[in-house]
Amino acid sequence: MSPVDDGGGRFDVVDGRPDFDTVYTRCPTCGVVAAAGSADYPLTAGGDADLSGEIRLTCAPAGHRYTVTSAAFFARDAVRTCARPGCGTTFACPAEADEVVCPTCRLYQPGPFLHADDRRRDYVRRVHHDYLDDVRARLHRPYGDPQ
Ligand SMILES: [Zn+2]
Ligand SMILES: [Zn+2]
Repeated sequence: MSPVDDGGGRFDVVDGRPDFDTVYTRCPTCGVVAAAGSADYPLTAGGDADLSGEIRLTCAPAGHRYTVTSAAFFARDAVRTCARPGCGTTFACPAEADEVVCPTCRLYQPGPFLHADDRRRDYVRRVHHDYLDDVRARLHRPYGDPQ
């Protein structure tokens, strides 16, 4: 009996907490469907994840921050085989996912959605690229300079 609503298999639960590498949402800023980069959510009195309210997520491809409820989690209606040689884990993910992450070796790799559409693939690559440029620019900024 798990106190965590697993949303009908929409994500995996480890030690009473959702495994956010298996939680897929669409980032409202870049529109990319991917597993959460990081997550912030309240806990119940018993120390389990309370997913009945708002959950703050970070978009894995570009670090955008946004708030969702568990209603925004995508159903994992497709299956991928990990692309890393020697891993070969098969795992569930949404058919709409642009990017997926292997729950065993944590390798980020293209999701099912990108196989159908080269322009989409270019777009997602650009989102990553712009983010890395942004991170580099921030690293070169003097201390104390806001933003
Ligand atoms: Zn994003
Ligand atoms: Zn893997």
